[in-house]
Amino acid sequence: MNILVTGGAGFIGSNLTDHLVSRGDNVTVIDNLSTGSLDNIAHLQRLSNFKYVNDTILNEEVMDELTKEADCVIHLAAAVGVKYVLENPLTSIETNIKGTEIVLNCANRHKKRVLIASTSEVYGKHMHAPLKEDDNLIYGPPSTMRWSYAAAKLVDEFTALAYHRTKKLEVIIFRCFNTIGPRQTGLYGMVVPRFIKQALRDEPITVYGDGTQTRTFTYVGDVVESLTRLMECDAAIGEIINIGGKEEVSIKELAERIKKLANSNSEIILVPYNQAYGKDFEDMMRRVPSLEKLEALIGYSPNTPLDEILKKTIEYFRTKAD
Ligand code: UDP
Repeated sequence: MNILVTGGAGFIGSNLTDHLVSRGDNVTVIDNLSTGSLDNIAHLQRLSNFKYVNDTILNEEVMDELTKEADCVIHLAAAVGVKYVLENPLTSIETNIKGTEIVLNCANRHKKRVLIASTSEVYGKHMHAPLKEDDNLIYGPPSTMRWSYAAAKLVDEFTALAYHRTKKLEVIIFRCFNTIGPRQTGLYGMVVPRFIKQALRDEPITVYGDGTQTRTFTYVGDVVESLTRLMECDAAIGEIINIGGKEEVSIKELAERIKKLANSNSEIILVPYNQAYGKDFEDMMRRVPSLEKLEALIGYSPNTPLDEILKKTIEYFRTKAD
């Protein structure tokens, strides 16, 4: 297949591209390197079934041309990371809404199947578990800029579904739950690469809040497997699907596990939210996905144990210079 991956130089995108290229697909990556990195795709540059285009998805002319050549589009390009979104609110909203609109427009013009990345952030402040795709959603006030990311991604979901309903476009929407693994950067706030770097340097591990908030972390390799299967799953068309892990862990316990697995002498410290993110910050205190729909559709769900993912990621950071 000819596959266009937007954001293919990023963390999930480059891992997905590796997999697709190695199984023989022709993959074109468009990425403006705003948060992605050439390092993630450098090893692919000499391969005949890989092409890299350094441009923004906001360039509709280029996107149109690339979409025309593809059989399927996987849209991962986005402004991501709580820290990044808080520091760049306008760019984030623009990329996440306008960018997806352009991707959908081009896919519709050439009638190509398109997978749209959404996020578990859309579940907002729910405390129950597991979170199901059809749940109602609850947010805080608009002054809490964190929720702008969820709101923008929700607009993407609605727009994609509207394209499906009115124009019969083949859209598949997936909500990722805290994907982790090699190539994720800690620069935009993500907790696992931050804790691992702190642990490897014997610096204090900074747990925000009281550390009782939980997440279910998902191995990037398992996300790649899920996406590869979803891409070929006709029953997933017009659906929203969670992709997440199974092991719920508190952030305090995560810090303890990383410290132990990295043989670190770091101290684990609690940092108040307002010191970490500024005022008016609200965290999600619990985030556990229902994976029923994913399993029913593709007969698979992410299953790599957390400690194994952490070990792989620690090894990656040991060999990385920064
Ligand atoms: N977090 C933390 N220390 C850090 C970075 C993040 O304790 O240095 C916490 C953060 O407040 C949240 C959890 O870890 O409760 C996951 O944060 P991340 O930004 O990775 O993802 P998200 O909040 O989007 O789930």
